[in-house]
Amino acid sequence: MTALSNNPWEGVHKQQFPVLEETQVIYLDNAATTQKPKRVLDVMDRFYRERYATVNRSVYGLGQDATRAYEEARICIQKFINAKRADEIIYVRGATEAINLVASSYGAVAFKPGDTILISALEHHANIVPWQQICERYKCDLKIIPMSDKGDLIQEDYNRLLDENKVVFVSLTHVSNALGTINPIKPMIQKAHEAGAKVLIDGAQAAPHMAIDVQALDCDFYCFSGHKIYGPTGIGVLYGKYDLLDEMVPFLTGGDMIETVTFDKTTFAKPPRKFEAGTPAFVEVLGLAEAINFIQDIGFEKIQSHESHMVRLALDEFKHIPEIKLIGTPEKRAGVISFLIDKIHAHDVGTLMDAKHVAVRVGHHCAQPVMQHFGVSATVRVAFGIYNTPSDIAALVAAIRYAMEIMYG
Ligand code: PMP
Repeated sequence: MTALSNNPWEGVHKQQFPVLEETQVIYLDNAATTQKPKRVLDVMDRFYRERYATVNRSVYGLGQDATRAYEEARICIQKFINAKRADEIIYVRGATEAINLVASSYGAVAFKPGDTILISALEHHANIVPWQQICERYKCDLKIIPMSDKGDLIQEDYNRLLDENKVVFVSLTHVSNALGTINPIKPMIQKAHEAGAKVLIDGAQAAPHMAIDVQALDCDFYCFSGHKIYGPTGIGVLYGKYDLLDEMVPFLTGGDMIETVTFDKTTFAKPPRKFEAGTPAFVEVLGLAEAINFIQDIGFEKIQSHESHMVRLALDEFKHIPEIKLIGTPEKRAGVISFLIDKIHAHDVGTLMDAKHVAVRVGHHCAQPVMQHFGVSATVRVAFGIYNTPSDIAALVAAIRYAMEIMYG
């Protein structure tokens, strides 16, 4: 069975990830969060031990070095997503905060009663709830681009929604966290622009798997979370076209985001500082930049081909287990597979797989409307990362068979 060897590929091996080495867990919950390579941990540890000082406000050398590293990281991220300017990169806590920021700060300058905001049937709660809240605040209509039973968005319905409504904003996931669907965002962005709407792309599940080029996509906003791309928690990125960022109102207010303050009036700094109130997560910023360097040293071409190989292997193995029912069979799929096993609750499957040291996610994946579409309350989700190997798939299949043996008796 050469296809199921445990060889590392292209220099990526589990020993680079202390948690994987320490626990020997077969980690297949990468859509929730990813394990950290040692080099990311080392950069952060070294900074805390040897170079720690705050950014943006120090005249002393240590602080100036920290500020320099913090701004160099911004340029690293700018290049990672091919933004035109470094000041189009806003540091946020993660995709959730980025979407809330845009809904609130762009909404305040752009949304009027009767406007329509479109999201899709595939969204994570992070790209649903902020829009519900903002629609309530500005008396806008929230409409949903439906999906097929395969888990693909229905483009004719999207076109119709754009034609029939005064759509001012479209907020769309690049890749579904629940089904793995890769949405055809480029033509969808173009259509939204033709209809006069701005577009935010939630890239939380895309950034770990594929090269992002925000200029080629021409999206108005794009966001992702550091912890899903082998970086630390508490740091994420919001990209926005500069003119839009400039026109928006601040989100959080306080120190660092101002130009001048008197008791009568405050004037705000230009983007990105306007959106970075308070002492930022600068150590995490450095960790994120190192995670990006790590990914770029491997290259997305190799990452994508490795991960699609993993998906293909798993789907081929699943064909031999007739009790497995796939939830979602999208036309284009990133490294995520959702499924159920006949007559066994997803939580039982997950718990029994854990007994075999295989970590998968079970539940609604913060995408309850996706579950409702398929008439289920939960699925088992396998999500691959760069360190997974064919032998992990062998372990996955063995754990599934073990769960079936126990439950079927
Ligand atoms: N969008 C998608 C598609 C996600 O998968 C997630 C995280 N599961 C988020 C947004 C939110 O990301 P975070 O929790 O890092 O803010």
